[in-house]
Amino acid sequence: MVVATSVRACRVGACSAPVPLTLTSQGVCLTHYLDEVFTRISAVQELCRQKEMPDSRTLSWLSQQGDLAVTLLSGEGPNFSEDRARLLELLLCLANLHESMRRPQSP
Ligand SMILES: [Zn+2]
Repeated sequence: MVVATSVRACRVGACSAPVPLTLTSQGVCLTHYLDEVFTRISAVQELCRQKEMPDSRTLSWLSQQGDLAVTLLSGEGPNFSEDRARLLELLLCLANLHESMRRPQSP
């Protein structure tokens, strides 16, 4: 008898797409993970535009998402080129965000 590794399904209501192993702790499929991350990142970008620094929790969250995106891109591999493009976009977004936070803040 083969014990199947339990593949969890996305916790978003109408979605039952499988959750990639890398996203087990998030409990969502790649598409919904990306939706959520982009929503939160645009909130952080808005903060930066107002010359406010995100708090340390947000900063560590951001770096976690960078790690996740890299793992997702290199490891299990997105099935769809669309997801792959969004992951690359995510990394680019994070890089831009770090760049804008490095700029000297006006007093
Ligand atoms: Zn989903």
